[in-house]
Amino acid sequence: MKDNDCIFCKLANGDIPTATLYEDEDFRVILDANPASKGHALIIPKEHYADLYELDDSVAGKAMILAKKMIAKLTDILGCDGYNIVQNNGECAGQTVFHYHLHMIPRYKGDDVGLGWKLNELTEEDREYILSKL
Ligand code: 5GP
Ligand code: ZN
Repeated sequence: MKDNDCIFCKLANGDIPTATLYEDEDFRVILDANPASKGHALIIPKEHYADLYELDDSVAGKAMILAKKMIAKLTDILGCDGYNIVQNNGECAGQTVFHYHLHMIPRYKGDDVGLGWKLNELTEEDREYILSKL
């Protein structure tokens, strides 16, 4: 399914031209318009899924395999020192485009990409609650 009001449906399916690094029947890989670092790219499925909750299992698997191939190739081209694969679900998690996509963010020693979080202590209460519910 495509969503006529979705910008990523249009980009992924070639209705709006964009800098494309790779394309196959399921995905388009494009350069992010607002890169966190040089080479920041997005893997976008051609079908519309709002987020990981909605994503088809086989597309999820293919997306990660494609990320693996892309970062190997892009590491050679860019000479980066590492990679973050980031995928946001929900506004509170930083999602701004509600069509599933994987960020591939090259990392360079000493860069100022602001990914990270504060490390807290795992409480006994949280641990017991979560383990008891699964
Ligand atoms: P999110 O915040 O939803 O995880 O990520 C959305 C990403 O899409 C952002 O990094 C943003 O820069 C990128 N983006 C949004 N609109 C466009 C667009 O029209 N073209 C491209 N190439 N990237 C876009
Ligand atoms: Zn879409």
